[in-house]
Amino acid sequence: MVLELKRFLANEWKGYKGRPFLISGPCSAESEEQVMATAAELAQIPEVSVFRAGIWKPRTRPNSFEGVGSEGLKWLRTVKQETGLMVGTEVANEKHVYEALKYGVDLLWIGARTSVNPFTVQEISDALKGVDVMVLVKNPINPDLELWIGAIERIARAGITKLGAIHRGFSTYEKTIYRNQPNWQLPIELRRRIPDIPIICDPSHMSGKREYLFELSQKAMDLNFDGLMLESHTDPDHALSDAAQQITPGELKELLSRLILRSPVASDPKLLDILGELRQQIDVFDDALLDILEKRMKVAETIGQYKKDNNITILQPTRWDEIIRKVVVHGQVKGLSSGMIDTIFKAIHQESINHQMRIMNNGIDTPAETS
Ligand code: PEP
Ligand code: MN
Repeated sequence: MVLELKRFLANEWKGYKGRPFLISGPCSAESEEQVMATAAELAQIPEVSVFRAGIWKPRTRPNSFEGVGSEGLKWLRTVKQETGLMVGTEVANEKHVYEALKYGVDLLWIGARTSVNPFTVQEISDALKGVDVMVLVKNPINPDLELWIGAIERIARAGITKLGAIHRGFSTYEKTIYRNQPNWQLPIELRRRIPDIPIICDPSHMSGKREYLFELSQKAMDLNFDGLMLESHTDPDHALSDAAQQITPGELKELLSRLILRSPVASDPKLLDILGELRQQIDVFDDALLDILEKRMKVAETIGQYKKDNNITILQPTRWDEIIRKVVVHGQVKGLSSGMIDTIFKAIHQESINHQMRIMNNGIDTPAETS
């Protein structure tokens, strides 16, 4: 994959240097007046590099506002001419790509409801062959990193090098404070897998509510994200889509002024010394964790041998229930979140079962072990 967007933003794009790459604008283009008024205000905020507006809106239910369609692309072209901002919109099929390119849209993004579908992403990729445009791929609505990477690879194959990712959170069935769960470990893992890809956080679609925009934006900055996409509307409460999560350009300015931007690398030698020493301590603890896990698995294997010799089942639900309750309580006393304890101990338990299975099956791997 040839990925040039990070370099482009750092070296060639005047607005970026040392600042998050900021994309802002209304959820939807609603009218020429609304688009022009919002863009005029956003153009006064130096951090804003790209004006966004949805032209075709993927709505959950029919009979909602589904966007103004190609008509709105003319307004985006005017925004570009009159403010000098780059303009961006969502594309969900090849027709959208052709239309947006015809009107000189600089940045296309693939929405969460589209990046789940490899056929559609491929169709978009085919339409992008040989085109020099910026493309950002939103995470799919379900927390599936491979699907996200697959969509990025499909777009890269079209020859798009100004390619980035947008983290907008993941749908869940349970009600949580955010509209979409951040699952920060997924974009962090994405960065490990594709180090050169810039990742933009979209706190608007993640939170679903304007009061959480600041905390999510700050978190993204602290995790060294490359940019932010924040929805902004001159009259958010009367927006035709996503009213609860949009903020006025004035509120955006205020939010940006409160953001603390920290350096991704330490340059002060004294600080580097301190960090180096603390990281050594972390490495020692990580090794100790591995040693303890190894010992724990050895004990589990011995238990497996006893169970085998006495012909009893591996899974003992009451014992497992007892363990999970106990560790959650003990963990809380130590300031460890019950969610983390639950995840770690379920994984440890699964690993113990796998080790015991191997003993029971005379060293032959079982499907449980490899799944
Ligand atoms: C959007 O950016 O307007 C949008 C529809 O976002 P998502 O695909 O993240 O829901
Ligand atoms: Mn929206």
